Amino acid sequence: MVYPKKLEDIIEFYKKLPGIGEKSAERMALATLELPFEQINNFSLSLVEAKEHLKPCKICGHITDKEICDICNDETRDKNLICVLEDYKSVFAFEKLGNYRGNYHVLNGLISPTEDIGYEDINLTSLIERVEKLEKPELILALKSNIEGETTTLFITKILEGKDVLISRLSYGIPIGADIDYIDVMTLDKALDDRKQISE
Ligand SMILES: [Zn+2]
Repeated sequence: MVYPKKLEDIIEFYKKLPGIGEKSAERMALATLELPFEQINNFSLSLVEAKEHLKPCKICGHITDKEICDICNDETRDKNLICVLEDYKSVFAFEKLGNYRGNYHVLNGLISPTEDIGYEDINLTSLIERVEKLEKPELILALKSNIEGETTTLFITKILEGKDVLISRLSYGIPIGADIDYIDVMTLDKALDDRKQISE
């Protein structure tokens, strides 16, 4: 082993992060160790506290350190417009657009028959309950265009069939299977503007 065990542990940790290979992990671990003790202490405390206190919002499922997230609590946002997303990372992507003034619903997963993930395994029942309480709601389904995303989109459309809900989906400028949070702001903005209605 080139590195002492304790340093090796830090390298192994960094390698778990997306896009970090062996070399980058080594560089990051060595650079971290060079930070003053106080900074390392603060950083490790922030990590533990974030992990302990961040949890899904009771209404929309977005990550928050409160019961109800700031977006759901914002009275200036349109409560009848709900953008449905796979994960909370996509919420940050939409918020970066700066012009979306609706709310969100984070599914925290997608229906996947091959992986045995059904609608009851994701945050979907609460979306239906939420929609039923609204007057003239509009749902924007902004899910991946892979099998799981399509299955979930179809399921939501079917289950709300006949109800007074306007359902649209992002236009097809989004590459197949792409994660929403990896799409550049301009493409996402255009896909949102050009959204296509899919409900009757
Ligand atoms: Zn919320």
